[in-house]
Amino acid sequence: MQLRQSPVADRDVRSVVILGATGSIGRSTAEIIAGAGGAFRVEAIAGGRDPQALARLARELGAKFAALADPRGYAELKEALAGTSIEPAAGEEAVVAAALRPSDIVMGAIAGTAGVKPTFAALSAGRTVALANKECLVCAGAPFMHQAAASGTRLLPVDSEHNAIFQSMGEASLDTIEMITLTASGGPFWTWPSEAIAKATPKQALAHPNWSMGPKISVDSAGLMNKGLEVIEAHYLFGIEAARLDVIVHAQSVVHGLVAFTDGSVTAGLAAPDMKVPIAYCLSFPKRSATAARRLDLTTVGRLTFERPDFDRFPALRVAIAALRTGGGLPTVLNAANEIAVEAFLKRLISFYEIAQMVEQACNTALADGVAHEPESVADALAMDQAVRERSRFVLARQAASRARVQ
Ligand code: NDP
Ligand code: MG
Repeated sequence: MQLRQSPVADRDVRSVVILGATGSIGRSTAEIIAGAGGAFRVEAIAGGRDPQALARLARELGAKFAALADPRGYAELKEALAGTSIEPAAGEEAVVAAALRPSDIVMGAIAGTAGVKPTFAALSAGRTVALANKECLVCAGAPFMHQAAASGTRLLPVDSEHNAIFQSMGEASLDTIEMITLTASGGPFWTWPSEAIAKATPKQALAHPNWSMGPKISVDSAGLMNKGLEVIEAHYLFGIEAARLDVIVHAQSVVHGLVAFTDGSVTAGLAAPDMKVPIAYCLSFPKRSATAARRLDLTTVGRLTFERPDFDRFPALRVAIAALRTGGGLPTVLNAANEIAVEAFLKRLISFYEIAQMVEQACNTALADGVAHEPESVADALAMDQAVRERSRFVLARQAASRARVQ
């Protein structure tokens, strides 16, 4: 599609930092920037473990600074950037340094809890953050929202449901909102019986019907844990309690979120299932910019369907909503245990349903031990996160040992 673009005056050029630049959201962000006719300038990018991919992207985008989380990749990154003016750096602190480079907006698109520290650093420095990394809010929702208020900055939701809800809410005050609804595609297993889901392989879980995403969120989506994480994300982001947050399954992924008001009106956010739409919205906020993102043609879609989620076949959603309703530090516990369980599933150490079982067990253990207080700070949340990870790894190792004994 050809886009009409007028030249951008220097003072209107937005400088951007992309955290998680080599991932699915990061690459879509880079594509939008590359197609925006000079409306954006990339100050810094950060990635995890792939120095070559990071260097390639840094060159393409003309970034000034490229940070790799894995310090072992420094020499390779430096070599790949030789002859350019792009500054290479590596290690956890380098990713935080990237987040703190001067910019108008920081795209927080690191996968998992690894994103918490750098994204929080950007927020604390007063940067506007476009937040894709929902784990930040599930792990440390209260500290993030307090910091955003204290810094007087905005967290703009990139997650498609939250973006649609954000746009649908407008300036409405919370007391005029009756219900916020997030839609879920249902993922690859929505039509499967539980016996088949129980035997699902990582390959099957990664084959999402509507979205192309990184491995962690793809597995989360297959079990509807992703929707549970998103309900928690919405709770913190919009400051609304669990009772006014609903989930419905909508297989076409066209209506992403709905807001029902106390006068009976309902507004909804629709778009083709293409993450470039919410990414572009956040990058240009409060303005809008033209993109080549997929367009929605409702007559081609034809039918839109809506169903209640099935908590029996998708227990992860039930576990996540229960964690939010119980409150305190349970969302932090849930998030940490889920990351370890998803990792174990991807390595074929546990079955699909054992993900939700492990997470539920971690929540119950934390409650029984009385250690699930609401984190007061990011450091507090990360300490709780670490303790849950260690315990979950221990449970996995014990399970593996007892399985080995049986065989
Ligand atoms: P990917 O797995 O595709 O990408 C993750 C990115 O983070 C990669 O660039 C990865 O680098 C980088 N990374 C990993 N660890 C670190 C670290 N310690 N420091 C810096 N960078 C790191 O994930 P997605 O793009 O799919 O998802 C990113 C986030 O956005 C997740 O929180 C997800 O839930 C959320 N999200 C994603 C959506 C999607 O459509 N993909 C939709 C809505 C939300 P490397 O590959 O080298 O390890
Ligand atoms: Mg989403």
